[in-house]
Amino acid sequence: MRILKGNPVSRGIALAKVYIYKAFKADVHESYFEAGQEALKFKQFTDALAAAETELDAIVASLSVESPEKAKIFTAHIEILNDEEVAEEVKDMIFSSRAMPDYAVDMVFTEFAILLEKARDPLIAARAADLRDVRNRVLRILKGEKEHNLSNLREKVIVVAHDLLPSDTATLDRAHVMGIVTEVGGATSHTAIIARSYKIPAVLGVSDATEIMKNGEMVILDALKGQVMLEPERATISDYEVKLEEFLKSEKLTAEYLDRIPLVASGERFSVGLNIGTTEPDEGFKYVDFIGLFRTEFLYMESEHMPTEDEQFAAYRKVLANAMGNPVTLRTLDIGGDKSLRYLVLPKEDNPFLGNRALRLCLDMPELFKTQLRAALRASAFGPMQIMFPMVGTIDDIRAAKAAVQEAKAELLAEGIPFDEKINIGIMIEIPSIAMIADFAAEETDFASVGTNDLTQYLHAVDRMNQKIADYYQSSSPAMFRILGKIFEEYNDAGKPVSVCGELAGEPLAAIVLFGLGLRKFSMNASNIAHVKRVLSLFTLAETEEIAENVMNMKTQDEVEAYLKAEVAKREQKLIASAKK
Ligand code: PEP
Ligand code: MG
Repeated sequence: MRILKGNPVSRGIALAKVYIYKAFKADVHESYFEAGQEALKFKQFTDALAAAETELDAIVASLSVESPEKAKIFTAHIEILNDEEVAEEVKDMIFSSRAMPDYAVDMVFTEFAILLEKARDPLIAARAADLRDVRNRVLRILKGEKEHNLSNLREKVIVVAHDLLPSDTATLDRAHVMGIVTEVGGATSHTAIIARSYKIPAVLGVSDATEIMKNGEMVILDALKGQVMLEPERATISDYEVKLEEFLKSEKLTAEYLDRIPLVASGERFSVGLNIGTTEPDEGFKYVDFIGLFRTEFLYMESEHMPTEDEQFAAYRKVLANAMGNPVTLRTLDIGGDKSLRYLVLPKEDNPFLGNRALRLCLDMPELFKTQLRAALRASAFGPMQIMFPMVGTIDDIRAAKAAVQEAKAELLAEGIPFDEKINIGIMIEIPSIAMIADFAAEETDFASVGTNDLTQYLHAVDRMNQKIADYYQSSSPAMFRILGKIFEEYNDAGKPVSVCGELAGEPLAAIVLFGLGLRKFSMNASNIAHVKRVLSLFTLAETEEIAENVMNMKTQDEVEAYLKAEVAKREQKLIASAKK
């Protein structure tokens, strides 16, 4: 048996077959054929078109009942395949220049895609991405490679990939994906966040997984320890079948805390919020007091075009309905960094996480920003909502964002469209520069929520996506707790609500310290709610305060974690002992 190691980012155990997912990368070179083979080469091209159409027909047929919206995308791809102008140009390159079919396809499709990208109408520009998709399909067929796709799997599998793009995870076939293994990605990468919210066990950062693991082989994924076991012996499989059952049992016990009122042992109440990224119902809605983070970018990423104001309005209303009267914190578009939109081509940047991302991008594209703000404001007439801006670095950012809200409000007012005129406006604190002046930020905002995923990245100067330096990404470092303590203190002193919606809020050990530092609003994925409620119920307020004090005087993250684990273990043992009496 061989064991591969990685980061366990979404707890659980899975036993299933491997499905290696490799997004096809076209590797085409300028190449020509000898005279006399024109007809043969042209036939290769038309055969590839026919094979592509057969594949697309099958996809449309399988999606048309459950996901007619997704099916439409592929119907559009069939139309591209049948575009006479494109086919004529490829034919011309094959017959007149004797270009190899793959080279001709690459040249012609890419040329058309570039033309489309230049269109001012975003709907037309969006077609460029479709054209590239179809080009890749035809090129893959010309190269004789099979299709790989995660939206429509036939059996239960553990997906193994170099990395998953948000567009892969957005369309993931949740009924068949039992586990995820990737070669890159840390605990706060989007793959990790999605895996946790879908409750799919995941181990990320497994070096060379796609090379070492074989399609179809049976493996064990231990996403508690961060291990993948290849060629497991019969005895190990039996062991793991028992472990899986025990794990599910303990999850069930913890789950009993799901609908308990969140209290620490001395009786103080805290609030639990939910992080969401879709407009779909989520079982977590039942167990929370607020929606602390609605990541609206997923709406944009799942769409084939820039969502219109009406589409966004309808989506936001749906989320308000799902929230059943609890306030929804709508975070404005956060793209850039590791998140892109297929229909919005942005200039390549050397350091995208330090670049034109999130609020910066929105301020740079006022029309795009205004469309979202108008949609959000219109939805605010239908339920409690607050608006929050990501990637705020300065007071200037806050003022510029608030001015954009004012402008959208003025327009709606003039048009007689209702909205919540007193809507709360807040910020994410995820850049150290704004954390350091949280007192001033509190004066200018109605609330704040701390994005510890990015705050860790920017405080520790560690790319959150770079597996090679994952050890430097320390969200529970003493430095993090010191800066968090300062943010909570400033907002609490100003009497303005402050929450944490980064992954740290859902980590039970860290939650003890956050409570001790004065945090009372924790927003997290549904899968963490019961764990946080249970662990915090073991501590009194005074104990958490003492623990927080001690942690801030520790020197390393390892020291902090060992200490917190021991404090929890002590209390759990006491409980077990008293239950036995
Ligand atoms: C964060 O940075 O902590 C956060 C919640 O935002 P995201 O993970 O979407 O960047
Ligand atoms: Mg962030």
